[in-house]
Amino acid sequence: MLDDFLLKKLSEMENAGLLRTLNTIQSNPAVRIEVNGRKFINFSSNNYLDLAGNKEINKAVADAIEKYGFAGTSSRLVCGNLSIHEELEAGLAVFKNKQASLVLPSGYQTNVGIISALMANEKNSCIIMDKLNHASLWDGVKLSGSRIFVYEHCDMNSLEKTLKRAHKYEIKLTITEAVFSMDGDFAPLKDFTELCRKYGAVSMVDEAHSTGVFGKEGKGLAEVFGVSNKIDITVGTLSKAFAAQGGFVCGSLKLINFLINKSRAFIYTTAISPAVCAAALKSLEILKGSATERAFLLKTAEYLKKKLNKLGFNTSNTQSQIIPVITGSVENTERISLYLREKGIYIPAIKPPTVPKEQSRIRISLTAGHTTRDIEKLTDSISEIV
Ligand code: PMP
Repeated sequence: MLDDFLLKKLSEMENAGLLRTLNTIQSNPAVRIEVNGRKFINFSSNNYLDLAGNKEINKAVADAIEKYGFAGTSSRLVCGNLSIHEELEAGLAVFKNKQASLVLPSGYQTNVGIISALMANEKNSCIIMDKLNHASLWDGVKLSGSRIFVYEHCDMNSLEKTLKRAHKYEIKLTITEAVFSMDGDFAPLKDFTELCRKYGAVSMVDEAHSTGVFGKEGKGLAEVFGVSNKIDITVGTLSKAFAAQGGFVCGSLKLINFLINKSRAFIYTTAISPAVCAAALKSLEILKGSATERAFLLKTAEYLKKKLNKLGFNTSNTQSQIIPVITGSVENTERISLYLREKGIYIPAIKPPTVPKEQSRIRISLTAGHTTRDIEKLTDSISEIV
């Protein structure tokens, strides 16, 4: 019976061109990768500062394994709370200009864990979401069972109207990404935080794609907009520019104490490995001093965006290292992705439900490790599509 059910569901997905399959990468997914014995330039990883495989990080991991072993062994609340977890959290709190921080096993789990804990069964509360927020934020919202309001993507008039509609709720948790994962555009954080203040709403900002990439020391977009102290809850991930693994939340000491007590995603999971903490700590040190790499990455992104626009491609409203080329239908996007693969360029198609229908795309993810020659090869290949 189960087999029949699964076959039917899988066939439905296949017929719609939406079946997902895994590709096997034979090397660390950095800029140059090998897939099924063929070499590619990879334009799809979140390894923004090209720190994956960094020797200093590898050495820090090896040292941590020597000292602590690899295993997390238990929940942080039982016997898994090591001094290196606290060291990492102290570093992240300072980095994000907040009182305290908490690390969880992934960015996904962090978002789900915060929202579901804060908003669980609160009759007097509601959540206000940007329409294009990441799946992990939506899943936290669903798990919370809270009343939801949605505003148009990055539209501050729409947000203000929504805040007015939600005025009767005592706690209004308002959530946005800083750099949006599929479009690469910025949330207008200055207006966003001002509106949250004006209407007494709690602000939560997911800096998954901006941490390490934006700001003098890579602190993120809030630093660029000068609004760090106006954001109540800041989220980041250790799995993108940090090139490690895990997620973190920064905020007041009360917020972190509350999450330690109430976030099931934190309480009922094993502590992240001390080796992962060591990797993240070393990355933190390196990325603060990576201003040159950040400048190079953003300059390259700007160059590529302009070149693609000149060729007539729609790159949405990107302002970052994430450059979507909107290709429309699933079939068209798959065709372009396959064509690029024949040219030695690896960019899997991004399809619904990750993005809205008819907005499938080739999502170019640049890193500081891409050379000018890599960019030329990409633009040459894309221009052949035209
Ligand atoms: N937030 C956003 C905006 C993301 O794009 C992602 C991952 N793509 C996450 C959170 C989840 O982070 P992680 O991969 O560390 O689970």
